[in-house]
Amino acid sequence: MQTPDDLTSVEEALHAMIEIVATHAVVPVQQTVPLLEARGRVLASSVHSAIDVPPFDNSAVDGYALRSADSRLASLTVVGRIAAGDPAPDEPLEAGTAIRLFTGAPLPPGADCVVMQEDVDLDGSDLVPARVKSGTLLPGSNVRPKAQDIASGNTVLEAGQLLQPRHLGLLASIGQHSVPVFERLKVGLLSTGDELVEPGWPLQPGQIYNSNRYLLTSWLQSIGCNVIDYGIIADTPEASISCLERASREADLVISTGGMSVGEEDHIKAAVEQLGELGFWKIRMKPGKPLAFGLLGKHRKIPFLGIPGNPGAAFVSSLVFARPLISWLQGRGVSESSPDRRLQMLRPRAERLPAAFTRDKPSIRRDFLRARIENGRIAPFDNQSSGMLMSACWAEGLAVVPEYDSVAEGQLLDFYRLGSFDDS
Ligand code: AMP
Ligand code: MG
Repeated sequence: MQTPDDLTSVEEALHAMIEIVATHAVVPVQQTVPLLEARGRVLASSVHSAIDVPPFDNSAVDGYALRSADSRLASLTVVGRIAAGDPAPDEPLEAGTAIRLFTGAPLPPGADCVVMQEDVDLDGSDLVPARVKSGTLLPGSNVRPKAQDIASGNTVLEAGQLLQPRHLGLLASIGQHSVPVFERLKVGLLSTGDELVEPGWPLQPGQIYNSNRYLLTSWLQSIGCNVIDYGIIADTPEASISCLERASREADLVISTGGMSVGEEDHIKAAVEQLGELGFWKIRMKPGKPLAFGLLGKHRKIPFLGIPGNPGAAFVSSLVFARPLISWLQGRGVSESSPDRRLQMLRPRAERLPAAFTRDKPSIRRDFLRARIENGRIAPFDNQSSGMLMSACWAEGLAVVPEYDSVAEGQLLDFYRLGSFDDS
């Protein structure tokens, strides 16, 4: 719903965007990849363990395995030695005996605890449990029981999980050498603007460097996307239409920067309307008001996100809008059917932290301040201009001042750490 001033709230726009892609966008294709190629990919089906981890009771320390019932005896004969990688002996440990063993070595049958080597006295080659220095030995002391981490049959990861190094370690621990994931999302990227020049070329009067292309390409790659880079698009209706049309055939998602306002040199909005349909295009947020979402193509519908040209605004709106959209298209929301919970799981979780500043005059737009945490309080960068990237590089996260709100010093605000957008 558009308000009289024609702005759409962030919440409404996010909900609408996810609803539209959930209804229209193509479901990502599955593939199986080797474990070491799976970082940053999204798990396509849940994984269950076929084994117990650890697969056997084993020692947590270097020491001696014994029966806890023998721990008050004056002397135990050390009858053997088990290193990590050795199989457990077939014969149960007899009463009155102990076995030398090392971290990760299997516990011999009959033994139910391990005493650390630092905690025992030896009398010749015999162990003297009565002189154990670390108190009583109980059944299970210093033993890592079979299946302590994972029992055979357990679900270890759910479909939709973004795979980070720790998840790959977990999959390796259950012996999985390949993993079902969704194909990488192909994102077509357009930088619009006749004033743009690539770094490496001299600037002519009136020109600026194309920073969004580098900000966005590298960010998209870092969150697991393949980027199809269409370079700089001239500010003409023809160039805008022809590139968007091509991108809608080649990519799974099209992102453009700039050209979204209604100036005479802004042609993206009209081009999207011609090639498909536009969902919303002015957001009650700062920076990032001129932002558009739509679908390109009449049959195969490809989501389109038009983000502002100003680099500071491009940075914020890519985190606030492109991130949840990409997460959904990557298959992150597959396990969730409720629209509200779906959006919740696609967005990072905010911390609530006190403001170190005041703001008397409320804004009608939701403000995403590039900010740092200083002494536990939110300190925004001095200049929040949407054209600036220094603020983004200085910041540790985005602090949110709700629309229509003033801010008193100490008031709690939502704070999203930048890293939380990588994982969300
Ligand atoms: P626009 O949304 O096209 O009106 O652009 C808004 C502002 O952002 C203008 O000052 C543009 O010069 C600037 N801008 C647009 N695209 C880029 C880009 N790729 N890199 C750096 N600045 C840009
Ligand atoms: Mg422009």
